[in-house]
Amino acid sequence: MTATDGRWRQNWSGHTPFRRARVHEPTTVAEVQRIVAGARQVKVVGAGHSFNGLADTDGDLLWLGRLAPAAIEIAADRRAVSFSAGLTYDQLCPALHAAGLALANTASLRHITVAGAVATATHGSGDQLGNLATAVAGLELVTAGGERVALHRDTDGDRFLGAVVSLGALGVVTRLTLHVEPTYDVVQHVYAGLPWDALYEYFDDVTGAGYSVSLFPTWQQPAVESVWVKHRLTPGAAAPEPPADLFGARLQATHLPTLQNDRVRTAVSEPGPWHHRLPHFALNAPGAVGNELQSEYFVPRRHAVDAIRAVAAIGPELAGVIGVTELRTVAGDDLWLSPAYGGDVVAIHFNWWKDWAGVSAVLPRVEAALAPFDPVPHWGKLHTLTPGQVAAGFPRIGDFRRLATEVDPAGVFANGAVRTWLLDV
Ligand SMILES: Cc1cc2nc3c(=O)[nH]c(=O)nc-3n(C[C@H](O)[C@H](O)[C@H](O)COP(=O)(O)OP(=O)(O)OC[C@H]3O[C@@H](n4cnc5c(N)ncnc54)[C@H](O)[C@@H]3O)c2cc1C
Repeated sequence: MTATDGRWRQNWSGHTPFRRARVHEPTTVAEVQRIVAGARQVKVVGAGHSFNGLADTDGDLLWLGRLAPAAIEIAADRRAVSFSAGLTYDQLCPALHAAGLALANTASLRHITVAGAVATATHGSGDQLGNLATAVAGLELVTAGGERVALHRDTDGDRFLGAVVSLGALGVVTRLTLHVEPTYDVVQHVYAGLPWDALYEYFDDVTGAGYSVSLFPTWQQPAVESVWVKHRLTPGAAAPEPPADLFGARLQATHLPTLQNDRVRTAVSEPGPWHHRLPHFALNAPGAVGNELQSEYFVPRRHAVDAIRAVAAIGPELAGVIGVTELRTVAGDDLWLSPAYGGDVVAIHFNWWKDWAGVSAVLPRVEAALAPFDPVPHWGKLHTLTPGQVAAGFPRIGDFRRLATEVDPAGVFANGAVRTWLLDV
């Protein structure tokens, strides 16, 4: 099906208009091959949740939500699953759980596509947990000219490590294979009022207090307002009694009403399946309303406390535009364009009110505060760093450029964002 209709005129937040000339909804890989073979410029949009122009093109835009086969294929050893690349986590996770399987982690929401999340190294939190792209065991692409290419972690070495987090610059990902594990439960405990000094002194203990820990400061109070500690449980097992005190923060029976306007919260202190408790947005929650902007910077874990102190020092300047911040930890990996390439990182995420004028005024202040700590931005979020500053944070960007030029010499998949941030640097 080909249509240039009302779909995909803009991204989720409405901040970035899409210029696409045509929108296609291919149902087969052969159809993807035909579209790509005849196209000058192609881009895939997942759920359109990136805050910048990553998924935009002035040529042919593909949405893969109808791509066959619809079935999720489970490997005989039950350690991997394969599926068509248009699937969202909302579609994948309940099916995995029903089959007794699970992913190691999720992002804060499930509305996004797996391929879109993988392409931008989307992540959740957890000292031992890599970003969502690290779950990829293999992928299939339609490359420029319409050829089909399959890449596997076990057999394709550098080409695989370069192709997983790719901003769609190498081709249309039509199928993904992810590592999975037996299903599990999660219980989430919420603490209020973690004093800043306690965070600075016990940072590793705080982020290590659970399987996945998120801290939510607004930078306007003498403490981190809220800390969410998620523990992993064997299905059906009782949750251990949580300590009433976490380095000075107090255990809560519910979420904090003061932060309620920012996130729809998952249940507190009530065990549930991993895919209901790891994301912050409840299933089918109205998180699909784009009334916010987001920025996020990753710093090497060794700089975590100093970087957080530096942002806290400019906290008063953020008042008026900041909704909330989320501090998360991500384990290091070997994917070339991953912000966690080569070592563990701490992610400092900003939920802004939808006020680009105000946000773009404070971003340089945030970036200046973080500059001594080698920050790299989230590929799918908003920042004001220069292409050179961004490139400096990705040691394999030159290798990626060579790979992209080899696989796509005419730049069929090189939209403005890919050129600016990866190819023309
Ligand atoms: C409310 C909200 C909450 C968020 N929470 C988190 C979070 O917890 N953690 C985090 O890290 N990020 C988070 N993000 C950012 C988001 O996860 C990323 O921007 C992610 O890339 C969005 O996925 P998508 O399916 O919308 O992809 P899109 O934004 O549509 O696309 C992203 C990129 O992937 C490419 N792409 C998509 N599919 C394919 C394909 N099949 N083949 C080739 N290229 C493809 C696109 O061309 C584009 O370059 C959040 C965003 C929002 C709006």
